[in-house]
Amino acid sequence: MIGKKNQWSRRHFLKATGTAGLGALMAPVTRLATAAETPNKVPTRPFGKTGVDVSILSLGGMFNIASNQVMMKQAMRWGVTYWDTADCYQNSSEKGIGKFFNKYPQDRQKVFLVSKSDARDPDGMTELLNRSLKRMNTDYIDLYFLHSVKRSDELNAEIKSWADKQKAAGKIRFFGFSTHRHMEECLLAGAKLGWIDGIMMTYNYRLMHTKGMKRAVDACVKAGIGLTAMKTQGGGSVRTDSDTEIEMAGRFLEKGFTDGQAKLRAVWQNPNIASICSQMPNMSILMSNIAAAVNRTELSFRDTELLQRYARETHSDYCTGCTNICESAIGEDIPVGDVMRYLMYCRSYGDRHHAMAEFNKIPEKIRQRLAKADYSKAEQRCPQKMAISRLMREALNELS
Ligand code: SF4
Repeated sequence: MIGKKNQWSRRHFLKATGTAGLGALMAPVTRLATAAETPNKVPTRPFGKTGVDVSILSLGGMFNIASNQVMMKQAMRWGVTYWDTADCYQNSSEKGIGKFFNKYPQDRQKVFLVSKSDARDPDGMTELLNRSLKRMNTDYIDLYFLHSVKRSDELNAEIKSWADKQKAAGKIRFFGFSTHRHMEECLLAGAKLGWIDGIMMTYNYRLMHTKGMKRAVDACVKAGIGLTAMKTQGGGSVRTDSDTEIEMAGRFLEKGFTDGQAKLRAVWQNPNIASICSQMPNMSILMSNIAAAVNRTELSFRDTELLQRYARETHSDYCTGCTNICESAIGEDIPVGDVMRYLMYCRSYGDRHHAMAEFNKIPEKIRQRLAKADYSKAEQRCPQKMAISRLMREALNELS
């Protein structure tokens, strides 16, 4: 039932979308906002106190870059010069970047290159760093991350000393970490350390307005830490089932944005976010995101309010990574937050291959417990009211 209070009715919406109808909103590139019509380069912003300006759109490299060299050239052409990869991404990610630099060595200096380590011990980190350098055919990495930090105590003196040593050797210019879980706690801890140059964290229209996240971002900004947002879509595409979804889709359409582009703009409206890292595994997504980056149309207060209302109405579709709440309530070792993330890779990003690869890294013994564990207390405590038990069973079926 469509509420009368909405300015945007289904009739208005269909009129605006014309014969293309709802499909126009779901297309990755709309006729209204294409990079080809906006011949500017992607803008840059200062990355904390590093003295480096980075493109506000960063190319997330979790795809087969080796077979997509033309995309890398296109990214360069549009000024998407912040590239993000990791040792643990598909082999073809770092190797693909290496292939590109081999062919276009002059472009290496123009790229702000990020890679990450899953290791936590100095020897392991050195081994992974050296492997990344070799794969990417470069002798330095601009920003090196400890990958997926979950607890503040992972950022210890041993790690600092390792980072200092690699900086002195010229292998890395800056050091920091990425985090998908307990982001606020990790950001606050990073801000206190004085040796963290950059952080990449999950950040989107669902999370950016909470008191905890605002406080954490402010602390990092005061500490001069460069911030990169990831997982900015906050789940899948907006549907057109509810009043809010229809009103929102209609307003964005008027501005010339898809919902995905509008979600990017919502994050960029915070000037403290230097860049958005987005997985862009094909030209359509790359060009759609570039179009959003070069478009100067701001979201209005009402647009932002609508996104927040939508976030509230769909809260149980999105896991916010507060795993200390649910995992401690289960009474056995079940990585709920990780499984939720793999489901998101599969369902929201359509990256089943990566989702399955990550899911199947969970030890067999734990995977067998996914459908059998008792999640009742965890579900009671989950602030998002997620159907944890059902989702764990579905993950087992979909990703095993
Ligand atoms: S399932 Fe709920 S409690 Fe657990 S991490 Fe996700 S949002 Fe937090």
